[in-house]
Amino acid sequence: MAFEYAPAPESRSVVEIASSYGLFIDGEFREASDGKVFKSVSPSSEEVLSEVAQASAEDVDAAVKAARKAFEKWSTLPGSERAKYLFRIARIIQERSRELAVLETLDNGKPIRETRDADLPLVAAHFFYYAGWADKLSYAGFGPNPRPLGVAGQVIPWNFPLLMLAWKIAPALAAGNTVVLKPAETTPLSALFFADICRQAGLPKGVVNILTGDGSTGAALVAHEGIDKVAFTGSTAVGKQIARTVAGTDKKLTLELGGKGANIVFDDAPIDQAVEGIVNGIFFNQGQVCCAGSRLLVQESIQDELLDALKRRMSTLRVGDPLDKNTDIGAINSAEQLARITALADSGEAEGAERWAPACELPSHGYWFAPTLFTGVTQAHRIAREEIFGPVLSVLTFRTPAEAVAKANNSQYGLSAGIWTEKGSRMLAVADKLRAGVVWANTFNKFDPTSPFGGYKESGFGREGGRHGLEAYLAPSSPEGERK
Ligand code: NAD
Repeated sequence: MAFEYAPAPESRSVVEIASSYGLFIDGEFREASDGKVFKSVSPSSEEVLSEVAQASAEDVDAAVKAARKAFEKWSTLPGSERAKYLFRIARIIQERSRELAVLETLDNGKPIRETRDADLPLVAAHFFYYAGWADKLSYAGFGPNPRPLGVAGQVIPWNFPLLMLAWKIAPALAAGNTVVLKPAETTPLSALFFADICRQAGLPKGVVNILTGDGSTGAALVAHEGIDKVAFTGSTAVGKQIARTVAGTDKKLTLELGGKGANIVFDDAPIDQAVEGIVNGIFFNQGQVCCAGSRLLVQESIQDELLDALKRRMSTLRVGDPLDKNTDIGAINSAEQLARITALADSGEAEGAERWAPACELPSHGYWFAPTLFTGVTQAHRIAREEIFGPVLSVLTFRTPAEAVAKANNSQYGLSAGIWTEKGSRMLAVADKLRAGVVWANTFNKFDPTSPFGGYKESGFGREGGRHGLEAYLAPSSPEGERK
């Protein structure tokens, strides 16, 4: 996707990061009630970027109360008024996209080429898209008088900090809800810059509240009785815990969890194009993508040709300083994530799969993992079953379309898949049988605000994006227009 909004960011000097940040509650930044803070560290240099407030249960309560108060007015504004704020936010994101791209790269570790060309354009696009919905809710088949749910408690992960925020906040606000959002503890900064953008846009106080903190803050938020809707993106383990907390309450819930996407390459696929799709599928954002194509299913007859081409392409990938515009693979987000990836990759070797990585020198500071390929993988191996969430590709083979489908579906997850073939009839027949929320045809990792995204099985439930994403923040209305 071309970057249309600002010239390329060339250095970290385009962003000014304060030495400390407070919580954003009721339109103001404030310290945590108990004064607790934590550090945000850049994964590419291990430099401390800033000290950030750690929200307590008391802060959660204050934020939920502020959101509740703001809801009374925000939910009664004409949709066209809410749209104006969302359009304003979208435009400010475009204007500040250079600064935000550098900030996100510093805090997350992902290459500037990705934050600049993928994350930031998509963040702005989501606010523009949902701004367009805000005054059309009554005519879009949601019922005659669709109503917002109330206060949404939103918890997001670290892999796409600003984009996950946009996926959650834009539809919630368009539908007339107010929000309390908790970013991940390793990437809190872009959400705090977003809070500043809300102020810049003149958004009424309390409509958006940002609480930085760890899992305990997230747990207090989803358990708070003033929350009407919980939206979570993160690990399947935490998602299940949240489902248990919410069960038995009248809170609405959507969960976007893990994945183990199959990228299926048939013998008639254009090899060069497929190789690009495989590389993008598993090495985009260092493979820290819930919908990553982390299992390559290749038809046996083209295995050697495809793997030779893939290894040649992997040897050209540049790993290193994420602020360098030529970098393809940046840093892993945290020491903990690096340890998880390392342990799973080691299990692949221990279980008998063959490991291959191109020769590449990794920087001496920060958290790095070379792009890695495993062949000789069986479905019993942990690296074929468990989400690695890193730049590690497990290769399996198949002979027939039926075998490809069976192997692709042999997973506890069901989030994404890719199919590479020039035969349209085969494409449709295979796509139809895959238990995956998103199926890409001769491409991978393509996102658009108009398209719903979400999973089957242990990848979660509910959809974000498109009309479905908006519906998740609306109460169904009866034919008479009464709220049920
Ligand atoms: P995580 O589940 O540990 O954390 C996600 C968020 O939940 C963080 O903000 C964290 O502080 C918070 N949290 C932790 N414990 C909590 C609790 N008990 N109650 C409430 N909140 C809690 O996951 P992570 O390590 O940050 O992210 C990686 C995982 O997220 C991967 O498994 C990945 O597949 C998944 N993910 C899924 C999607 C998707 O759209 N399906 C997108 C991104 C990431």
